[in-house]
This record gives sequence, C-alpha cells and structure tokens, in this order.
Amino acid sequence: MNDSSAVDNAPRLVLVLGDQLSPELAALRAADPDRDTVLMAEVAEEAGYVRHHKKKIAFVFAAMRHFAAELDAAGWSVDYVRLDDPGNSGSIAGEVVRAVERHGSRQMLATAPGEWRLRHSLQTLGDRLAVPLELLEDDRFICSTAEFAAWADGRRQLRMETFYREMRRRTGLLMDGDAPAGGRWNYDSGNRKAAKGDLRFDGPVRHARDAIADEVLALVGEYFTDHFGSLEPFWFAVTRSGAEAAFSHFLDTGLARFGDYQDAMLKDERFLAHAVIALYLNVGLLDPMEVCRQVEAAWRDGSVPLNAAEGFIRQIIGWREYVRGIYWRNMPGYADSNFFGHDRPLPDFYWNGQTDMACLNACIAQTREEAYAHHIQRLMITGNFAMLAGVDPRAVHEWYLAVYADAYEWVELPNTIGMSQFADGGLLGSKPYAASGNYINRMSDYCRSCRYKVKDKSGPDACPFNYLYWDFIDRNRGRLSGNPRLGQVYRTWDRMTGARQAQVRADAARFLAQLDVGAQQATQPGAAPAQSKGTAGT
Ligand SMILES: Cc1cc2nc3c(=O)[nH]c(=O)nc-3n(C[C@H](O)[C@H](O)[C@H](O)COP(=O)(O)OP(=O)(O)OC[C@H]3O[C@@H](n4cnc5c(N)ncnc54)[C@H](O)[C@@H]3O)c2cc1C
Ligand code: SF4
Repeated sequence: MNDSSAVDNAPRLVLVLGDQLSPELAALRAADPDRDTVLMAEVAEEAGYVRHHKKKIAFVFAAMRHFAAELDAAGWSVDYVRLDDPGNSGSIAGEVVRAVERHGSRQMLATAPGEWRLRHSLQTLGDRLAVPLELLEDDRFICSTAEFAAWADGRRQLRMETFYREMRRRTGLLMDGDAPAGGRWNYDSGNRKAAKGDLRFDGPVRHARDAIADEVLALVGEYFTDHFGSLEPFWFAVTRSGAEAAFSHFLDTGLARFGDYQDAMLKDERFLAHAVIALYLNVGLLDPMEVCRQVEAAWRDGSVPLNAAEGFIRQIIGWREYVRGIYWRNMPGYADSNFFGHDRPLPDFYWNGQTDMACLNACIAQTREEAYAHHIQRLMITGNFAMLAGVDPRAVHEWYLAVYADAYEWVELPNTIGMSQFADGGLLGSKPYAASGNYINRMSDYCRSCRYKVKDKSGPDACPFNYLYWDFIDRNRGRLSGNPRLGQVYRTWDRMTGARQAQVRADAARFLAQLDVGAQQATQPGAAPAQSKGTAGT
C-alpha cells in the first residue's frame, strides 16, 4: 500500500472487480464521484484461469453490467470494458494499465482483491503502472485479516467453534447479554435429520431474465463453448434487489427447516432448505451481517426455531469468516498442501458425469446444470470420493473452483484442501470427512436407484464407498492412527479378520485400477450424456 499523499487531489482510477459489487465498497467510499473514474472490466483471464462454469461467468458479467449502470445512475463516471471490446487486453492488470493512460489518472485506488493470485498480480505491476496504487482492506467481511491473526496467534489449534463463539460475542448475534441465546452455542447435534419420505421444499426463486442477462448469455455462449456446464436454465438474480428478494423467499419458505435438513440429500430435491445465496454474498449483492440480522429477527419474532437460526448464522459468521481467515493466513503455500501425498488424476466422470455410482452421478449432473450443489453433496459425495480414491488435492481444488457459481478461491480453497480433502493435515478440521456408503444411504435416497448395493461390503456389486473407505483408513494408518477421533475406527479395522482385510484391499485395488483406465463408466439407462473431453475443463 503506497503513500499517495503527494497526489491527493489528482484524479483517480477506482478499480471495482466482479466480486466487489457493493455500493459501500471501501474504494467507492474513499473515492469522489465528481473527480474520479470507476473502471470495471470483463476479462478473459478471470473467466479462464480455471475454466469456470458458463453459468457462473454469465452471472458475474450480468451482475457487473447492472452494477455499472447503478453507479452511473448514482452520478459516477464509469469506464466499463466489455469482453468483446476491441483492445481488451484480457487481464485486470492490462486493463488497469490501459485505463490509467486513457484517463490520465494520477492515482489508482482499489479494494484488495479476495484472491491471492489477483492481489499479487496488482501488487507486482511495478513499472507497468506509472501511478501509485492504494489497496484498501475489504471491510465487507466481519473479521479483518488482522483481527483473525490476533485471534489465531499463539493458539495451538485454530478450531472453528472457538472462533465462532468469539464472533457471536463480537457481533452480539443470538446473544442474551453475555450468554448464548437458548443457553447453548451450537445446535448442530440436532441438525442431522435424514430427508426420507416425500418431503418437499419450495427451493429458490427462479428469476425472470432481463435484457442484460440475455445479452450476456449470448456472449458467454459464444466465447466459452469449451467450458463446463449448461447456460440454461438461467434463473439467478443479477441485481441487489433480485438477490434480496431471493433471500426474503428463503426466510419465508426455507429457513425454518434449514437446521433440521441441513445434511440431507434427495435426488429430486436439489436445494432442499438451503438458501442458495453464497453466489450473491460472494460478489457483494448481499451483506453478511444484514442477512444474519434478518435471520435473528425471524427467530426473535417466533417465525423459525432456534436450531435453524443458529445453524444458519454459524455458517456465515463462523465458517465463512473462519475459512477466509485460514486462507489469508496460509497463502500462497496452502494451495500446495498434500498431507496424504495423493496423486491420482481427477476421474473424467467429474466432468462428464458418466459413472454408475448414483450419488456421484446425481451430484455431478446437478452441478453441470445448476452450477450448484449444497454443502453435504460437495463434502460427503464428490469430496469424500476424491479423498478415498486418492485424487491429487490440487486437481480437486481446481474442479470445485471451476464448477460452482459461488466459487472464489478464498472460500473454496480452505473448504476443499482443508475440510474436504484433509490435505492440510488437520489445520482446519480435526479429522478427515471420510465415510462409507452407510452414511450416504442414511442421509439420502441415492442408493435406492444405484446399480451398486450399499449393504454389500465386497465384490463387484458392493458399494465402492464401502471398501474404499476401509482401504483409505488402512493405507493411511501411519498418518491417522494417532488421531484421537479415529481410535475406534482403527480398533474396528483391527478386529476384522485377515481374509476380510485382504478382500477390502483387493476390491479397492481392482476398482482403482478400473478408475485409472476410465472404466468406471455409466452403463445404466438415463446416465448423463458425455461431453467431449475438450469441454471437460481440464
Ligand atoms: C469442497 C467444498 C467446496 C466449497 N466451495 C465453496 C465455494 O467455492 N464458495 C462458497 O461460498 N462456499 C463453498 N463451500 C461451502 C458451502 O458448501 C457453500 O457455501 C454452500 O453450499 C452454498 O450454498 P447455499 O448458499 O445454499 O448455502 P447454505 O447451506 O444455505 O448456507 C448459508 C450460507 O452459509 C455460508 N456457508 C455455509 N457453509 C460454509 C462453508 N463451509 N464455508 C463458507 N461459507 C459457508 C455460505 O455463504 C452460504 O451461502 C464449499 C464446501 C465444500 C465442502
Ligand atoms: S450404493 Fe454406494 S455408490 Fe451407489 S448411491 Fe449408494 S453410496 Fe453411492
């Protein structure tokens, strides 16, 4: 952050990035609409450093165009560079350099980018940028990186639950004086109902498309044909008022059951009682504190139970803030974490959905169509399988970053590397989220339509999660057996007969060998159609 005092009154260029669409953004608060120019740019590098889902690119570009129009209406001078504008350099750094020259700016102002990669790129522009650059802290987060560091310094373990309690005290959310509302900090133990039977949910609002979204969808369809995912149906909100309407709908129809069914999965209910707001929060169309205040108000006026309100608020002021703190504390090295030394390539079916495993098939089909899967699908289906199969965590990380509309590295990377792959060796989580088919069967209805038998433990028809789970436990004994939370698991493995253990190893070896030659292809009717390998985003 440079000293810009010498040029304090000179016209400035104010960079606003695609995930900074908040009128109260630090750089906008610090700027002067009468003197400064806002730069916004759609660039190929941001859309393509991993091949983001087409729907995500369309969402971000459409939301950017709306935000630029709102700034313009509010009296700002906005220089908006479209993807197909002649001369577009293709990168944020290149557009900053070009715009400084175009406007004769004497200073450059920006809110610090959320991803290490882009922050580093701006901070190392050096001689390419002829003017001083001032990067301001992104204060849309509830806990600054300095506050997180102050909390983390000197602690032996950085557990989310401890951080969360601190955040409850600091924000006053769900507090009665110094005590947690209802007498407990965390109601998670009651939030694990399986979604059996004919439970039905309203799901998110499906917003009508406007002219801006239509235009952007055509552009994305033309420029990003080789990216993963379907553009249609496109029903995301692309404005602040649309995102607020989406959240109000969730408050009215989903929140009350959010806690109970947070961990459940149903083949025909892709969203259950989830809010589907991370994409809006992460670009700034919704404000995290405001969202939490509304959830608390819904509990205080008796509209929703405490386990729902607490569960939801914990995700936002707890998990969301905590993973961001972990990200900035450990980057850039965190992305290379590989505790288990996993090196298997990501199976092709993560891109084309062609697998007989009904749970993976369903989650990947929904990901391709909606650019969305809820937390337990990400953690316990796609993530769990990748870890059990020994997939290279960087490949897993790049997949998650590419395929979800809400994916930004500061939140995706710790969730993938830390929570889902345990690749950081336990910095973020206290034990790997590894599970056999039994867990998936308990929490979902996927197994009913699967060609594999979830009750079978071995043989060609047995659920692969069953033997892959024990094989993972067995082959990582040296790394995991000292973990106090896994003592019982190792005792169970040790009680198995030698013949049973040998069968687990043989089944896993056979399955993984087939996986490596791409033989785990779908054979059942109705399996997702293949995309060409070139469209797989690898
Ligand atoms: C492997 C993996 C990758 C993930 N990648 C992302 C990502 O790229 N972007 C992202 O926003 N979330 C990510 N998550 C966290 C979580 O899965 C999503 O936030 C959530 O599914 C978004 O859907 P929703 O808005 O319906 O959330 P809900 O289930 O309704 O939860 C409400 C909100 O809480 C927040 N939240 C919930 N869980 C988490 C979490 N673990 N970390 C951070 N915030 C959380 C989100 O802002 C979310 O919108 C990932 C989780 C895993 C296991
Ligand atoms: S049987 Fe196994 S592979 Fe099939 S859906 Fe159930 S958990 Fe998934």
